[in-house]
Amino acid sequence: MRRMDGKICVVTGAARGIGRAIAACLHNEGGIVIATDLDEAAGAATAAEIGCRFEKLDVREEVDWIRLAQRLPSADVVVNNAGITGFESGPVAHDPENVSLTDWREVHRTNLDGTFLGCRYAIGAMKGRGTGSIINISSRSGLVGIPLAAAYASSKAAIRNHTKSVALYCAGQGWKIRCNSVHPAAILTPMWEAMLGTGPDREAKMSALVSDTPLKRFGTPEEVASIVLMLASDDATYLTGTELNIDGGLLAGSAASPG
Ligand code: NDP
Repeated sequence: MRRMDGKICVVTGAARGIGRAIAACLHNEGGIVIATDLDEAAGAATAAEIGCRFEKLDVREEVDWIRLAQRLPSADVVVNNAGITGFESGPVAHDPENVSLTDWREVHRTNLDGTFLGCRYAIGAMKGRGTGSIINISSRSGLVGIPLAAAYASSKAAIRNHTKSVALYCAGQGWKIRCNSVHPAAILTPMWEAMLGTGPDREAKMSALVSDTPLKRFGTPEEVASIVLMLASDDATYLTGTELNIDGGLLAGSAASPG
């Protein structure tokens, strides 16, 4: 008996990175995984490699969620993973003084509106059986201020809080629908590639980026996926409204501690 046997699991932003690892992990544990992504070609290719189903879904678009609900009216696990930093097209000002309203809204549209819609879909797809697990991928950036990525940090902080509202709402309805947030930091995915490059200084850049991380390395998408699996499974039936940091110890103490 595998931990996800027969469970219907929806994962957003599953074409690559953390979402892909989550989809593969849930599939390997027996889940009936529906990998979704904005990018139809990449998403379908990933799903074929994993051996799961693919549905195109732009998390920002309510019509996409409505279509998914029609095609997939019930679900046991929904992982709201899709997210953007706002730097996908290159460096742009995202500090509180200079970030444009357009850029600010675009980051919130994907990260926060997408998670709100995903939670709403999940509740609709779970309440019939009154059970399920919603996992929202927030970030370490949702727990601390990030001056040069203020929109990203704000959107991820809002995900953390909305997770608790969803958890309390579902518990209040008498459903066993749990909702928790996961807060990764420095996970080596394509999100970092533009910054790291492929030059001879790649290793030095990586070391510098994790110099404040107690474990002194990047995490892997699989390390996030195994925590998501735990939250999705019956190992976590008493966990709701909580947040799990997966950050190599970064938030355990102050980077400025003596010695
Ligand atoms: P990636 O950029 O590697 O992957 C994100 C995936 O989401 C891509 O396939 C992307 O598609 C897709 N996506 C983007 N916008 C949408 C949308 N509107 N609808 C559907 N899919 C979309 O990111 P990661 O795997 O690194 O990150 C996954 C999650 O983890 C994000 O929420 C991120 O904020 C969070 N996170 C990541 C950390 C890290 O260090 N990597 C640290 C903390 C949090 P496309 O390629 O077409 O844009």
